[in-house]
Amino acid sequence: MKDHIKFILQNSIIFAGISFGFSIIGGLFPSSEHTFVIGNPLEVSGITVEHVVGHIFWGAIIGLGTLSVRYIILGGSFAILLDADHLLQFLDIELVSRMSHSVVLAVIVAIVFFIVLRGKDLRIAAVAFGAVLSHIAFDIFLADVGFNASTTFPLFSPFILDRIEFAGLDWLGVEIIGVGIVAVVSYLAKRKEIRLENNLTKT
Ligand SMILES: [Zn+2]
Repeated sequence: MKDHIKFILQNSIIFAGISFGFSIIGGLFPSSEHTFVIGNPLEVSGITVEHVVGHIFWGAIIGLGTLSVRYIILGGSFAILLDADHLLQFLDIELVSRMSHSVVLAVIVAIVFFIVLRGKDLRIAAVAFGAVLSHIAFDIFLADVGFNASTTFPLFSPFILDRIEFAGLDWLGVEIIGVGIVAVVSYLAKRKEIRLENNLTKT
């Protein structure tokens, strides 16, 4: 039990740190047309119970393909922690809104986990990638169902800061891609594990 908690906490802190650090990049271009003072996150970013629970739930679904409770919890944890970038809004500096809601960040977190864990746990890398997608998926879902509106993300930040619009059922496609990636990577990782075990028992 203690191991599980340590595993989840450690990796969650890494994820939140990357999301936060990545978002600082958005604060480096105060003269850009894409940056502005967003405001106190508690007032402008719509942090509600549904928002928090929804992100955790959508993220947990991403982890299902691993068939492992610790990765399912990790998926939920990663998904909500992506919003660590909102903390920068307290500084009242010009930022790119929702900077971390980017496919580029999804690739970066996957690579960082791959490097930190020396390639030994591909599932965390996949869950981290999928959690970013699940977060974006829930934000689209909430905008559509809660406000009957579309929503935008700087999907390729920091390279392209133009915002890309999503609406309606787009969230479902994004979530399915996340679930699929985690499921495929988990399957391949498991197969490799079994093969290694077989080789060990042979020798
Ligand atoms: Zn968000």
